[in-house]
This record gives sequence, C-alpha cells and structure tokens, in this order.
Amino acid sequence: MVRKIGILGGSFDPVHRGHIRLAEDALREAGLDCVLLIPAAVQPFKQDVKTASGSHRLNMLRIATENRNGLRVSDYEIRQKGVSYTYLTMRAIQKLADEACGEGEEARLHFITGTDAFLKIDTWMEGEELLSSYSYIVGTRPGYRQDELEIYIEGIRKKYGTEVINLPGVQLNISSTEVRERIRSGLETGSLLPEGVERYIKENELYI
Ligand code: NAP
Repeated sequence: MVRKIGILGGSFDPVHRGHIRLAEDALREAGLDCVLLIPAAVQPFKQDVKTASGSHRLNMLRIATENRNGLRVSDYEIRQKGVSYTYLTMRAIQKLADEACGEGEEARLHFITGTDAFLKIDTWMEGEELLSSYSYIVGTRPGYRQDELEIYIEGIRKKYGTEVINLPGVQLNISSTEVRERIRSGLETGSLLPEGVERYIKENELYI
C-alpha cells in the first residue's frame, strides 16, 4: 500500500484561510493520508525579509489546524535553523516516512503549492531532484496564469516524469502581505484568518 503524504511548506507570516483551504482541498481531492504544514526558518527567496519569529509562526499554525482532521504542523525547518531548502526537508521527511511505513508499504510525498510558487520550482536548489522525486499538487484560480501553467506542467512531465495534480479553483484571494498591511492600518482581519489567529496576533502585538 502507498501512504500519500502532503507537504505544504510556507513562510506562513501569518497563516491565513487561503493556506488552510489549499491544505484541506489537497487532502480531500488527492486522497492524502495527512498534510504536514511546515513553516520555513528562512525562505530561500526571502532571505532579506524580516518575519515574525519561527515560534510565533508555529503557534499560529497550531491554532489554525486545531481540530482539523488530517492537518499536522511540523517544526522541522524551524528546528534546523538557517535557510530552509525544500530538497533537504523532503529528503528528511521521506526518510522518516519510509521508516514509519510497515513492510510492503511505501510513502509517496506530495508537495503542495499555489500557482506562483509552483511555476518557479525548477529554479529552486536541486530543482531536478525535487521534480523527479516527488509528486505535486497545485492550487489554481480559474484563468490565473493558466496557459503558462499548462505549458510548464507539460514540460516537467516530459522532462522528469513528474506527477502533477491540479486543484482547480481553490485559491482564495487572500495573501499574508494583505493581512499584515491591514493590521498595520488598524483594520479587521477576522474573515481572512483561521479562528483564533487574529486574537493571537493581537495578544502578541505582531505586525504593528
Ligand atoms: P507562503 O507565502 O507562506 O505560501 C505558502 C503556500 O501557500 C505557497 O505555495 C503559496 O503559493 C500558497 N498560497 C498563498 N496564498 C494562497 C491562497 N490565497 N490560496 C491558495 N494558496 C495560497 O510561502 P512561500 O514564502 O511562498 O514559500 C512556499 C514554499 O516554497 C516554502 O516551503 C519555501 O521554503 C519553499 N521555497 C523553496 C525554495 C528552495 O528550496 N530553493 C525557494 C523558494 C521557496 P503562491 O506563492 O502561489 O501564492
């Protein structure tokens, strides 16, 4: 039997409803056994960007996934410290998952992304290894970069045999940048954030 594990990596600064929707849709639509949400210590493409601390971002993810079946949070990248290269994380999770599998079972890792992140994966460190070793689940919005996405998927399928599962229409129009800007301007963010996260941000005076 193949165990299907989803990995949703992110800055999660902060986690918002769009992230949770993506994780839950991937879980259901791709028939995954679970989804691990893994906040980056330092996102490789955002090394000069200041974020809330790793422990705050982890705590917000834990609040956001409370009582949501199948969603789990991993502190792997935060514990590793330094720049969080996805290929290193995937190697480590694959090893752990294989060890946890019973005899005759194997673990298949599915990296979950939005459209923008996915379209850059071949430029990531060890992109070839990433594209030839794991499956991908991509959250899309109707019409958004669709032609580009189709051509890209066709290209990596041909070159690396990559399995790509498209999740049409799951991207909510929410971004962490918008959440931070609203907080800085004193505006409400409740409808953009999973329950409890807005309170956590206020109590800890984040993003002001
Ligand atoms: P993020 O902004 O926190 O977002 C996390 C994921 O959720 C991204 O795939 C993002 O896709 C998606 N997302 C955001 N808003 C969404 C919405 N409203 N609806 C549906 N999906 C939404 O994380 P990030 O800073 O882009 O990082 C993503 C992952 O890529 C991290 O694990 C990071 O370490 C990894 N990464 C690795 C390398 C490398 O190894 N060299 C380089 C760059 C990034 P979109 O970006 O498409 O919105």
